[in-house]
Amino acid sequence: MLIVKKFGGTSVADKEKIFNVARRCVEDYKNGNEVVVVLSAMGKQTDLLLAQAREINPNASKREVDMLLTTGEQISVSLMAMAMNSLGVPAISLNAFQVAMHTTSVYGSARIKRIDVDRIHSELANNKIVIVTGFQGINSFGDYTTLGRGGSDTTAVAIAAALNADACEIYTDVDGVFTADPRLVPNAKKLNEITYDEMLELSSLGAGVLHNRSVEMAKKYGVQLVVRSSLNNSEGTVVKEEIKMEKMLVSGVAADKNTARIAVIGLEDQPGVAFKLFNHLARHNINVDIILQSVGRNGTKDISFTVAEDSVEEAVEILERHRAGSLKCHKIDVEKSVAKVSIVGAGMMSNAGVAAKMFEALYDVGVNIKMISTSEIRVTVLIDEIYVEKAMKAVHDKFSLA
Ligand code: ASP
Ligand code: MG
Repeated sequence: MLIVKKFGGTSVADKEKIFNVARRCVEDYKNGNEVVVVLSAMGKQTDLLLAQAREINPNASKREVDMLLTTGEQISVSLMAMAMNSLGVPAISLNAFQVAMHTTSVYGSARIKRIDVDRIHSELANNKIVIVTGFQGINSFGDYTTLGRGGSDTTAVAIAAALNADACEIYTDVDGVFTADPRLVPNAKKLNEITYDEMLELSSLGAGVLHNRSVEMAKKYGVQLVVRSSLNNSEGTVVKEEIKMEKMLVSGVAADKNTARIAVIGLEDQPGVAFKLFNHLARHNINVDIILQSVGRNGTKDISFTVAEDSVEEAVEILERHRAGSLKCHKIDVEKSVAKVSIVGAGMMSNAGVAAKMFEALYDVGVNIKMISTSEIRVTVLIDEIYVEKAMKAVHDKFSLA
């Protein structure tokens, strides 16, 4: 078997943990498998490097920031190769240039375009364990790029797809994917299986287990993933297209506090108003999530929507700039202390009453719903941030996920 194994920063945070990972990989190797390892930077290294950059120059160019960040993964892969060598096993570390991991040119959020596999194949043919830097790539200018925070998961999936690997294992410091964040909902349970679509919704909703582009890519190339703990041998969660058992109505509950609501009050009730509003935001790459438009009255209407909290200032500034011109309105309101709570489940597609049951759970604990949005396999509500834990617990219990 050809196995791709990815380990996150906490799994390689110190010497002892590096040897723990080395031994796990060596075990697969000694059982006759070809092993490719993808690593993140050690512990909080990426955060430390970012802080150092800010200290020197708060407006550092993204190219130089990427140049700096790629050192983090280069440290972990070379130390890992040394650790395996000291266990008597041949291993070699490779960075994005040595592999040739081609990405788009956008520093800080590049996307993988193509991975050359010749070097990896030839090192595997030489009986080596191959250890590759996660998170980084190279662009057509001959520069380093990075894939965005948490991007090593995507590196691992891309390598597994390019090599047509038999398994892609994502190791982390929790036992797998849970029905809710166990820090918020203590009786949350580990899931044995989950579909790509459910996982995609959960990782976009702030479940924080996998980089969401890694799930997109796994789905696109049919790479079956296993999310499991580097600290024990428990089975983990399999992420795949279809799950065998009867689809659960709801697989998980997620919360995202990085949300703010903007309400644009008293817009003209005319064609083109929504277009203009959202086009201004789109041109500045501001992602809009839940959108709600009121019924028109006296020739005016209100449109409210959510954006990520870190882009709310920019969004309001853009809208304010256009108020004198193309975007006439009475006022623009902002509310930052809101959060999204969502339920996700492939089974809700064919079942009525799932949304009502969620709303009932919130009613039971007296939580008011400010906005609602749904997809085929998700229901999201916007609520006051202070009620997130209470709401999650209530919803989790209502669907008997514990
Ligand atoms: N080291 C990078 C980060 O901290 C990439 C990763 O861990 O996946 O974001
Ligand atoms: Mg991660």
